Amino acid sequence: MTVSATLRVALPVPLPRLFDYLPPPGLDASAVAVGARLRVPFGQREVCGLVVGHGQAEPGVELRAALAAPDAAPLLQGELLASLRWLAGYLHAPLGEVLAAALPAALRRGEPLPDIIRYGWVLNEAGRTALAAMRAGKPKALAMLLAETRAEDWLDETSPGWRAPLRPLRERGLVERVKAGSESPFTKKVDSDPAFDPAFSPNAEQQLAIDAIRSANGFAPFLLDGVTGSGKTEVYLQAIANCLARGRQALVLVPEIGLTPQALTRFRARLGVPVHALHSGLNDNERAATWLAAASGQARVIVGTRSAVFVPLPEAGLIVVDEEHDGSYKQFDGIRYHARDFAIVRARALAVPVLLGSATPSLETLHNARCGRYELLRLRQRAGAARPPQVRVLDVRKRPLQAGLSEESLAAIRAALDAGGQVLVFRNRRGYAPVLLCHDCGWSAHCPRCSTPERPTAMTVHAHGKRLQCHHCGHRRPSPPACPDCASLALQPQGNGTERIEAELQARFDDVPVIRIDRGSTGQRDGLQKHFDALGNQPGILIGTQMLAKGHDLGNLVLVVVVGIDEGLFSADFRSGEKLAQLLIQVAGRAGRAERPGTVLLQTHHPEHPLLQTLVNGGYHVFADGELALREAAGFPPFAHLALLRAEAKQAEHPLQFLQLAKTLLEGSGIEVHGPLPAPMPRRAGYVRSQLLLAAPARAALHAALDAAVPALYAAPDARRVRWSLDVDPLDLY
Ligand code: ADP
Ligand code: ZN
Ligand code: ZN
Repeated sequence: MTVSATLRVALPVPLPRLFDYLPPPGLDASAVAVGARLRVPFGQREVCGLVVGHGQAEPGVELRAALAAPDAAPLLQGELLASLRWLAGYLHAPLGEVLAAALPAALRRGEPLPDIIRYGWVLNEAGRTALAAMRAGKPKALAMLLAETRAEDWLDETSPGWRAPLRPLRERGLVERVKAGSESPFTKKVDSDPAFDPAFSPNAEQQLAIDAIRSANGFAPFLLDGVTGSGKTEVYLQAIANCLARGRQALVLVPEIGLTPQALTRFRARLGVPVHALHSGLNDNERAATWLAAASGQARVIVGTRSAVFVPLPEAGLIVVDEEHDGSYKQFDGIRYHARDFAIVRARALAVPVLLGSATPSLETLHNARCGRYELLRLRQRAGAARPPQVRVLDVRKRPLQAGLSEESLAAIRAALDAGGQVLVFRNRRGYAPVLLCHDCGWSAHCPRCSTPERPTAMTVHAHGKRLQCHHCGHRRPSPPACPDCASLALQPQGNGTERIEAELQARFDDVPVIRIDRGSTGQRDGLQKHFDALGNQPGILIGTQMLAKGHDLGNLVLVVVVGIDEGLFSADFRSGEKLAQLLIQVAGRAGRAERPGTVLLQTHHPEHPLLQTLVNGGYHVFADGELALREAAGFPPFAHLALLRAEAKQAEHPLQFLQLAKTLLEGSGIEVHGPLPAPMPRRAGYVRSQLLLAAPARAALHAALDAAVPALYAAPDARRVRWSLDVDPLDLY
């Protein structure tokens, strides 16, 4: 009897184990490398996984044969494969699901790789012999260039029109088309002709930061803690240019799609190399092409949102995480990774510097910097001539409000416009109004899929009152013509969303453009940039949600009005204070970024609230000091490590039973187990939701407990009646 060699495969299925298959018919198992894809039968389906090892069939065990092995070479390998294995362990998630999440969708499906290989041309034997005897002319000039392999893109760049003289060389059989190496032609350009000549020289603090990063050796995490407008981007650019000059790749993570176009333009203009974008606005093939270009080393600078943290970086030199505090780095479903944290893991494995930048660093990152784990680089002043904005808290109690705006705010807007400036009105609430209320009987519109008798969830009014939409589950319906309870026609939208403020401002300031920016108005990838371009430098008003708070540089913005932040002051979540402080500082930071000074008006009914007082009088770092002390006292992150086990089902008792089982499995493991409790939003989209919160002062204890319990959770019959998920390092407890 012969033992047959087998392939061990990680499959994208929600089971915490690997699977063994025989190689596809006619193929030897040793011909399929670790990291290559394998298409296999799985139950009645066909799925595509990744080979993670080789083995021997055990006697008497019937294994199925794989269907196909599409890759001649591994798709995932080296550092990336190792880091992803680590991530699967850290998240207690099936390896196959983690590997699938890391691959662009087009590659997940197991079809042959799209042809993105770079080709080049080179003289063959005959060509080299013929060269000396050739007559002078364009073919000879090209032939001389082709003494070494020249990539087609390099030829496009340096010898436009090269394909015409190539033809006679091909016809005479003197040249060959070959795979070009991974070295980009553009790296050389940076060497010989540093394409970055900033219009200004870095100031002293910027220079210190640039030098510190340049002299870093191997893994070195930095926090670039610089006030808004202090020129952090300038530091990134110079650090990237230095990385390129050393012939290395740079990865830059940015929080959101809206940020990408502006960042790309700026990066392209300055670096003089192609900058590859990777974000959700691309189609599957574009994403796959960029991913593969990174894998081949062809892409030298990759700028992307969250999932760009999964690009292969065979020649890595630097990772930058811009606005590292931003919540969008955390994936909220499926594989719940945090791109900033994984960037640090990868930088360590790649032995390269990693630069986290923010004006409002997360408390985790600040804590790491204070403990000496990250080197702190500070930019305390705005760059160039810009001054910090003047912040005023506007007490709006008992003041008449127009669509949420006080007389004082409206007067300030008028004055700013008259002086030729631009105004940003910030309201973190999409739609026309947060509530539709019957003025006669008190009925209000609730989402039928998200409400419970004790805890109704309001539907947001959209389309100037015509439509209702639930912001939690997406449920929509037309507004009722009359009150469903008392038939009254006195249905009134209560409160203000961005749509209503837009309507009010359009009516009042009809001499200037009034542009609303939120997910409703600005879905597409270049949408934000188009709005900014349309406005240019003329006086006008932007109204928007937190989309507007992030990293945009609007030179002529002189006034920011913040409307209705009070909800955020009283949220129960332990991170809500941090999030609100970051949001306020970031929004305020949009004002006065060029020569013209900026003003920020914070409208509130709680002017004496300690968070506002601390922020206005002390600034973000004073706030952060106080908040860190509170977290330490309360045993919250970064002084404790959390994991949240969530479960939901149509029937309320199923999640509770499942979580009760989990509790039994985890108790006695030395970690704190709180719950099961109803989730802060106890019902969503028809599902009843509960959760179990796990906490431990040390990461290792938490993970040891989870390692022991999670396999049993997967196996439990109760698990089949619920949708459950484990969130390690949850960002909020929702
Ligand atoms: P941040 O990302 O820290 O908010 P930016 O990098 O966008 O700030 O820089 C803010 C502005 O300051 C930009 O317009 C930038 O061109 C300018 N700037 C940056 N560094 C300098 C410098 N050393 N001298 C003058 N202007 C600078
Ligand atoms: Zn009514
Ligand atoms: Zn809903």
